[in-house]
Amino acid sequence: MPIHEKALIRPENLLTHDKLVVDGVDVSGHWSTFIAPRVVTDYNERLQDEIAALPGGEFVHRCWQCGSCTNVCTVNAVNPDFNPRFWIYLIRMGMESELLRDKDIIWQCVSCNKCTDACPRQVVPEGVMKATARWLELKGHTPKSSSTHFDEEFSEQVIATGKIEEGRIIRNFFARTGQPLRQEWLVEMAKRIARRLPVKLGMVMGFAALVRPRTRGWAKARRAIEGHVAREETRRRAALGLASAAAAAPPSNDSARTG
Ligand code: SF4
Ligand code: SF4
Repeated sequence: MPIHEKALIRPENLLTHDKLVVDGVDVSGHWSTFIAPRVVTDYNERLQDEIAALPGGEFVHRCWQCGSCTNVCTVNAVNPDFNPRFWIYLIRMGMESELLRDKDIIWQCVSCNKCTDACPRQVVPEGVMKATARWLELKGHTPKSSSTHFDEEFSEQVIATGKIEEGRIIRNFFARTGQPLRQEWLVEMAKRIARRLPVKLGMVMGFAALVRPRTRGWAKARRAIEGHVAREETRRRAALGLASAAAAAPPSNDSARTG
């Protein structure tokens, strides 16, 4: 399928003549637009399978390129370069290097799911955007996003204890992303909460921050979840042609951070 939107053709490939007359007809300027031919040689024939192996990307193969997702997209309305239909096309064609040219804006999806609602083929384009952003991280094309750091912190705490403790999540998230704990908005929010918080609830929250409560009998569930997560991680990394997580991971100090 050709790229049929002029806006998607890279400017350097668009050629026009400032002054051109053909058979007495002036076709100067955009009337004489030509598209420079190019040859794509670096297909990744597994690209669609790699995206489909990640959560949200499972149905990318269903797309028939109607464009409804891009038409309704919240981000596309303010930035025409944000184009889920086009990226899904590139994924399906295996045009990895073309996809990488937009690697720094794909993460901007705000998960409004308007595209998912509009899609007539149940592709779940929002999921495909998430899977693509994750694929970019796993392949080392983009750094790990704040969103991924938060997801990891949240998941690790739930898996470890069967509970979440908001204060610990915020502290560890800031540590992971190199942010100072003392932030104006956070101090202001804490003050407002403290003013309205019932004393008993405040004591429970303070206790939870110190003791790190666990769900009773959680060990069996934790082992089952850890096993499932490890199997899924192995399957995904294999699909992406990456080394196993254990082999790739640097020595971890997560236990110290979350402890
Ligand atoms: S979920 Fe993302 S891709 Fe879909 S419409 Fe919203 S911003 Fe656009
Ligand atoms: S709305 Fe669905 S079928 Fe249409 S282009 Fe977007 S993902 Fe493809």
